[in-house]
Amino acid sequence: MARIIAVTNQKGGVGKTTSCVNLAAALSLTQRRVLLIDLDPQGNATMGSGVNKHDVPASAYDVMLGGLPVRSVCVKAAEAGFDLLPGNSDLTAAEVELLSADQRESRLRDALKQVDGDYEYIVIDCPPSLNMLTINALAAAQGVLIPIQCEYYALEGLSALLDTIEQIRASVNPQLTIEGLLRTMFDARNNLATEVSDQLLEHFGDTVYRTIVPRNVRLAEAPSHGIPIIGYDRNSRGAHAYLALAGELIRREKEMLAVTQAQASNAVPEAASPPPAGESGLQDEPGLPASQN
Ligand code: ATP
Ligand code: MG
Repeated sequence: MARIIAVTNQKGGVGKTTSCVNLAAALSLTQRRVLLIDLDPQGNATMGSGVNKHDVPASAYDVMLGGLPVRSVCVKAAEAGFDLLPGNSDLTAAEVELLSADQRESRLRDALKQVDGDYEYIVIDCPPSLNMLTINALAAAQGVLIPIQCEYYALEGLSALLDTIEQIRASVNPQLTIEGLLRTMFDARNNLATEVSDQLLEHFGDTVYRTIVPRNVRLAEAPSHGIPIIGYDRNSRGAHAYLALAGELIRREKEMLAVTQAQASNAVPEAASPPPAGESGLQDEPGLPASQN
């Protein structure tokens, strides 16, 4: 089953697309099968993956509103090493059309069931808005990765995003969790950046990735060549950061899995063994993990 990660922040220019393209490429480099979905009408993730958004015969719009099969719309981002469900200005119409469509929140989630076994990771680039496209990404995802630029207004708007995530969890997608907060374009010489970073750690603790993406001009240059940073300048600080992020993400996922498995195996003996003589056993609630810690 694919792990679906929505990369979201309604604040513009915080590094969503840069993180999507380079995380997808870094995960591909570890031999994992990856699909990148461009859900932004700007089509920056498409262009940054080396695919011309004007030349693609179909886009994520046609999957969500035209009923086209996902596999028929996906293209290979050959240089980048992953598959791409492209996005372009057609998605502007999707924002409006989805409003009056049935199953409007779950169009993407339903479509992705077609390719669930094809990939280990599906990464979704969202537009800088909490619109229906972003809602579709959040409804489809298991985890949300939130890029945050450590500057004065960084935390403004974060509570609106967290509220939206909570609403989606309470309605269409109970399994949704915050995958992690990623500090982007970080400049350690800037006192304010360090202050905001400290605040993030204080408020969100381990939810903040240890990996920090530095401000690095090579990351800004790579998209104009249509290749991820790993292909453009493997030795840059930007490349190292996104490789480290992929490693951290995989490690966290393994840790989560180990905890879930340990809880499940703790629960099995309780559920399997009969209650001791003279006890009803009802208070044990068979099937529930013995320990929640
Ligand atoms: P939008 O909200 O418009 O979709 P975004 O959140 O996707 O924007 P990006 O497009 O990834 O943000 O980044 C905004 C700009 O900053 C781009 O020009 C990008 O090349 C540049 N950029 C992103 N990350 C870095 C970095 N770590 N160092 C230097 N430049 C960066
Ligand atoms: Mg973007």
